[in-house]
Amino acid sequence: MSKTKLLQPDLILGDTILGLTREVLDHYRIQGLVLDVDETLVPLKKAHVSEDLRQWVNQIRQQTPIWLVSNNLSENRIGRIANSLDLPYLLGAVKPSRRKLRQAIRAMELPVSQVAMVGDRLFTDVLAGNRLGMFTVLVKPMVDPAIAARSYPIHNLEVWISQKLGVSLMSSKHKFTKRHKKTKN
Ligand SMILES: [Mg+2]
Repeated sequence: MSKTKLLQPDLILGDTILGLTREVLDHYRIQGLVLDVDETLVPLKKAHVSEDLRQWVNQIRQQTPIWLVSNNLSENRIGRIANSLDLPYLLGAVKPSRRKLRQAIRAMELPVSQVAMVGDRLFTDVLAGNRLGMFTVLVKPMVDPAIAARSYPIHNLEVWISQKLGVSLMSSKHKFTKRHKKTKN
């Protein structure tokens, strides 16, 4: 698979993870979720999950197993967030390495193609998920409203490089395009 394809999310949500509704998961036949933590679930400077996120997790988990897989090495931070949501987690994933994603998927006992890797970063989350053959979802970073107006140099750099490589980053929201690869049946 070319570099461009490996960086191309299957779905660009155009919203934070809170926009990943049951309807969207059903549409793409997603049976399990591997979630990035920092700035996908919780802003970097925040230690606690929002009430909105808690409600989202509680609704989605009724039908869909969720694992947290973070590159962060802090047991203190990631462990606390995971425990507060009562979700299993893996630290120090070194995404785009596939190893810990594979470990989470194995624990879910689901086919790789039916598990979505959801994250805010192209070069870690999306790349790792695509390398493994997962369905990949790029979400808007969950940012502290107080600093939301500031620019995000890493995201902007990744977007710039990706577009140079030919990755399409138009939001797929409301389009519900057919899965163009990794279809199971
Ligand atoms: Mg992140």
